[in-house]
Amino acid sequence: MASKCRYCNSSSYGSCSKSPSKKHEHIDDEKHCEFCGSSGYGSGCPHSPSKKHRHGHGANKCVWCGSTGIGSGCPHNPDKVHEK
Ligand SMILES: [Zn+2]
Ligand SMILES: [Zn+2]
Ligand SMILES: [Zn+2]
Repeated sequence: MASKCRYCNSSSYGSCSKSPSKKHEHIDDEKHCEFCGSSGYGSGCPHSPSKKHRHGHGANKCVWCGSTGIGSGCPHNPDKVHEK
């Protein structure tokens, strides 16, 4: 089942006219990047402002790297902390 953009309810990815970041954000899908729908982590996201994939929230996993760790040490968050 495809997730939906939090701002416009579209199931697509990329440019969004209603989002502050101008991109669709699928924030409730923890298995995929909220900006592009990829299952990967780290750099290479075509739509993220930071060029890094960021997954949706859920399953107690870090949105930047998928780790269940807490606090500092995240390899992908620009702020270096795991973010749930
Ligand atoms: Zn949208
Ligand atoms: Zn992405
Ligand atoms: Zn992390």
